[in-house]
Amino acid sequence: MATYDGESITVVKDNGLVFSVFDERTLMTLRGAFAIGHTRYSTSGSANWTAAQPVYREAGSPGFALGHNGNLTNTDVLAAEAGILPGMMLSDSDLVAELLSMKVDAGATLTDALTRVLPTLEGAYSLVVLEANAIHGIRDPFGFRPLCLGRLGTEDAPEGWVIASETPALDVMGASFVREVLPGEMVTLTETGVTSMQLLPPAAPVEKLCIFEFVYFARPDSYLMGHQVHTARRRMGERLASQSRVEADLVMGVPDSGIPAAEGYAAASGIEFGFGLVKNRYIGRTFIAPDQAARATAVRRKLNPLRENIQGKRLIVVDDSIVRGTTTRALVAMLRDAGAAEVHLRISSPPFMWPCYYGIDTPNRNELLAATRTLDEVRDYIGCDSLEYITIENLRAAIEIDDECCDACLTGNYPTSTPVTIAARGGGQ
Ligand code: SF4
Repeated sequence: MATYDGESITVVKDNGLVFSVFDERTLMTLRGAFAIGHTRYSTSGSANWTAAQPVYREAGSPGFALGHNGNLTNTDVLAAEAGILPGMMLSDSDLVAELLSMKVDAGATLTDALTRVLPTLEGAYSLVVLEANAIHGIRDPFGFRPLCLGRLGTEDAPEGWVIASETPALDVMGASFVREVLPGEMVTLTETGVTSMQLLPPAAPVEKLCIFEFVYFARPDSYLMGHQVHTARRRMGERLASQSRVEADLVMGVPDSGIPAAEGYAAASGIEFGFGLVKNRYIGRTFIAPDQAARATAVRRKLNPLRENIQGKRLIVVDDSIVRGTTTRALVAMLRDAGAAEVHLRISSPPFMWPCYYGIDTPNRNELLAATRTLDEVRDYIGCDSLEYITIENLRAAIEIDDECCDACLTGNYPTSTPVTIAARGGGQ
């Protein structure tokens, strides 16, 4: 977190879950009417303290702090153009802070610096930037990552303003949802209210919010593009059930994001819904573990089977996705060990076949199980009796969208050029 107390900016950050980093004593030291906070799961090469956010720069007075959700695709080119040596930047977020800092050091205001730097960024970014007496919230022109605006108090008598990635953060604070920040828009919160500037024109006729926000990332009580995520997930399950029929005794979901889809599957198929796995509530999402071996071990620490519910039963197991397959394979083995007679896997996203360059840790296509295998080969690797993925058409129908989302990892249709290196650009031209 970073706070501004009227004189200076204080930054407290560390690796780990929020409640292990911020205890009461730490929170007591964070004072002021302006604050930003950020959590980011470790992506490749950045699982260390220095990559934790917010990023702070001293430029200007009292400097600024920045939180960034997403990944840029042209960091090499940006760094080279700014004369920053390869390896000097800790992350793409650090690079954005440095580019802004250079402009501020040269005499620009932070707003001017944002106006000049942001058009040069390619890829995904939802940013919050804290400076003296102001917070800026910015979404990239495609709107890959969500960002919304909320208000404390009433419309007639606002008592404060909030920018958040997801709407439940507003609910927790007692703030009401005002609207989503638009692709390319910058909203600025000050003591006198909110101002808006369309910093960049929207890059596409429709926004390209990450479709995996609906499938997996977002909390089920989030509202995105006007849709409640839980309802969309339930409809994914209904659609999956309509795609194929398999005889089974119980439909169960993989906690947490597979549960609403399992409910929908059970309702549409008429097969009983039940719980077959209990989640250890003290463990975070598996993707916090940054390598393959750690992910497999993490499954057993995170999920435990409810043996009496699944022993001797033919299970339909609904999960949100298969990326590398390590987690799913361990999960199926665990269910069989616990006595499941059959395991039929149903996945509420199409095969994950292409790397994501916009903030998900899948940099290498070779790591994606479905990229180089047929459906039967994936099924055999996972060790389930049958496997079915939702189709992209049914996924879109469940979310009630046409092509308003990025689905590049499922279709290969990237809304932007893919990561640009200096060599690929012909020496940084
Ligand atoms: S490529 Fe996939 S995971 Fe990445 S932003 Fe697009 S839909 Fe989301």
